[in-house]
Amino acid sequence: MAERSVAMREHAVVIVGGGPTGLMLAGELALAGVDVAIVERRASQDLVGSRAGGLHSRTIEILDQRGIAGRFLSQGQTHPVVGFHVPLDISDAPTRHPYVLALFQNHIERTLAGWVDELKVPVYRAREVTGFAQDAGGVDVQLAAGQSLRAQWLVGCDGGRSVIRKAAGIEFAGWDATTSWLIAEVETTSEPKWGWHHDAVGSHAIGKSEDGRRARMVLTEREVAGPGNEPTLREVSEALIASYGTDYGIHSPAWISRFTDMARQAVSYRNRRVLLAGDAAHVHAPVGGQGLNIGVQDAVNLGWKLAQVVKGTSPETLLDTYHTERHPVAARALRSTMALVALRRPDAHTKALGEYVSQLLSIDDARKRMAAQQAGLDICYDLGRSHIDNAHPLLGRRMPDLDLITADGPLRVFTLLHTARPVLINFGAPGVFLTDRVRLIDAECTATWELPALGAVTAPAAVLIRPDGYVAWVGERSLLGLPDALTTWFGPPAA
Ligand SMILES: Cc1cc2nc3c(=O)[nH]c(=O)nc-3n(C[C@H](O)[C@H](O)[C@H](O)COP(=O)(O)OP(=O)(O)OC[C@H]3O[C@@H](n4cnc5c(N)ncnc54)[C@H](O)[C@@H]3O)c2cc1C
Repeated sequence: MAERSVAMREHAVVIVGGGPTGLMLAGELALAGVDVAIVERRASQDLVGSRAGGLHSRTIEILDQRGIAGRFLSQGQTHPVVGFHVPLDISDAPTRHPYVLALFQNHIERTLAGWVDELKVPVYRAREVTGFAQDAGGVDVQLAAGQSLRAQWLVGCDGGRSVIRKAAGIEFAGWDATTSWLIAEVETTSEPKWGWHHDAVGSHAIGKSEDGRRARMVLTEREVAGPGNEPTLREVSEALIASYGTDYGIHSPAWISRFTDMARQAVSYRNRRVLLAGDAAHVHAPVGGQGLNIGVQDAVNLGWKLAQVVKGTSPETLLDTYHTERHPVAARALRSTMALVALRRPDAHTKALGEYVSQLLSIDDARKRMAAQQAGLDICYDLGRSHIDNAHPLLGRRMPDLDLITADGPLRVFTLLHTARPVLINFGAPGVFLTDRVRLIDAECTATWELPALGAVTAPAAVLIRPDGYVAWVGERSLLGLPDALTTWFGPPAA
């Protein structure tokens, strides 16, 4: 990755944090031609400990929209189920990626970092941001050791303990932890009990590390650990003895960590020239595997909007739609993970509730709906829907990656999004549209239009697709609403 000294001190956008969210956002801004830099505390992309274990369908689609999904798919394994209390078959979802891709976060980050490096984004490594001061024209970003950077816009992608969120005075509202878990990768002198183990404390699991040489474990703790409590090998040993009757002679830990089910969300994703994305904006338990996925999707929602504001093609108010669209998505993830944690409680009443939830999820419609939700395929942004009678179901939803026939030959819809620019696809007679504001493609499509959890919908005559892949306008019989949609999303027409 392109490492820099802080000698070059000014950028249009500075991103604090080069985790999955910061890397994705940097890539999006660089694709749009914006001068962006990352400031990252870690000296390299190496990640201590295991965090996310995979990518959901919508995240893979987003990577596909940029032409980089194959880089991730080639490294992991696909499984046609998503977990929501019970495994839910997702293999019949109408997407090219009806599965979870099992791939650990260190591989995801390394691959994203490789892409960002190709896009020549400067990364100030081994630098810690300590705070910022903003004025009408920009933000002074303060680094440890007294250095600073100047930016027009600052984005905090600096994780759950975000310095940027705190310095911006943005409240992190939500719920304290009710449960904590120890996670560790250790050597053992005797063979552990592999797989799941359930007892009165909760659920525990032991599996093999990626290289097969160590045991990787997740242990529910008897008592909730307080914040900032660094776990020790002794605590892991005690937790094992409490639940398994032995600690299997654990020694030589590769890493030990702890996580909780604290669920909190920034009440605002923006404070003037400062924005938040990813874990900096929302944290919750890892059950359901949502955090990284939502962070990457935040980045793709914000990237093109911030790029247009930096370039002056759209007013700053466009950035408010980032909060309006993404805040409810994370709020829903907080609720679903809180439900999942509650369903894991080992008492008889919760087990009885869990049996009913399992039965309900065996109903096909419920399965499809929850699977689409967990996979991020059912997201529907308002995009004016609430003001339109009988709005087409595509409005505000993700554009399906259909096969098109164009004057240049066959083409997938997602291929049109590789450059992260908007596109207007006309499925009717060529020449109906005259616009030089967005790319216009005349195409034929013979596929059935089917949306996750909704089923088949009427084929539209035209669609305006935003760079993040969501449909901003649907043409049915007329061009009604197209000029407004173009102005709302891509700025006023040139005078
Ligand atoms: C055990 C566990 C399992 C998980 N499993 C899943 C899963 O299966 N699926 C899923 O989607 N998510 C999962 N998650 C959540 C996922 O790991 C996070 O949601 C994801 O890492 C968030 O990415 P981010 O880039 O927003 O933040 P982070 O990954 O936290 O990245 C923040 C970056 O900012 C840097 N930084 C922080 N402060 C500063 C500073 N002051 N100056 C400079 N740099 C700074 C950090 O070094 C870091 O690189 C799991 C988490 C845990 C703990």
